Amino acid sequence: MSWWRRTSSRTPAGFNFTAGSTRATPKHPTTLARSGRTGALLSKGSTGRRRDHRQGSGLARGGSQAPRDKRLHPDDARLDQFWQKCAELKLPVNLHMADHPSCWRPPDRRQERLPRFQNFNQFGRDIPSFEELLAIRDRTLVRHPKTVFVCCHLGNQGNDLATLGKVLDKHPNLYLDISARAYEVGRQPRFATKFLQRYKDRVVFGTDQSINQKMYIAWWRLFETEDEFMSGPNWWRHYGLGLPDTVLEPMYRGNAKRLMNWEKL
Ligand SMILES: [Zn+2]
Repeated sequence: MSWWRRTSSRTPAGFNFTAGSTRATPKHPTTLARSGRTGALLSKGSTGRRRDHRQGSGLARGGSQAPRDKRLHPDDARLDQFWQKCAELKLPVNLHMADHPSCWRPPDRRQERLPRFQNFNQFGRDIPSFEELLAIRDRTLVRHPKTVFVCCHLGNQGNDLATLGKVLDKHPNLYLDISARAYEVGRQPRFATKFLQRYKDRVVFGTDQSINQKMYIAWWRLFETEDEFMSGPNWWRHYGLGLPDTVLEPMYRGNAKRLMNWEKL
């Protein structure tokens, strides 16, 4: 028996990862549609991480999985008008595409992340590959250049910031939230600092973790101190980035204000 066992009751339906949350409505014009919580200050309501991952998709949701050719992806022509309307209303869309790439690896001892992340493992499921999902994301960005998409969890490419930078360069309508990816930036503090400096206008602070003091203090230590060898949710240690105010201000507040059209507030 594998030491890494799937806990079926908590396993998210695979197709939830194939589409993003689309809960932005004119009724809540300043609410970023989200599957994670993009910025505690932006969030309305609290759903909890597991529920977010199971039910994160407003497009394709449910207990049973539709056949592949029946699933609705964000780049589907049937959604064109929806994304266009978001652009027209200046509603940014928080899109959760894919998940950490380790989810597509066998749930065995060679997994990069700790067993506690088994809930999100997708190996062997009838779902698109990690690469296919990112390709859907990129096609959506190209198809809707006027719509602003804020991709959760550093677009799930926090493990490869060099490639992620190229994606940002290619798609000016793409923004990122950094929710639940402290363990990605904390293990590559020098490159992550350069990345955040370069793309400081494209990344917003966000979280889909529990909103409490401990969570904020952990982010503060990571972003604002140069503390070393800090523990985190994985087996590796984090190193503080010591970010300057010129990066912190847009990430904490400025970008969100601009994206959410809150500048006059
Ligand atoms: Zn998430």
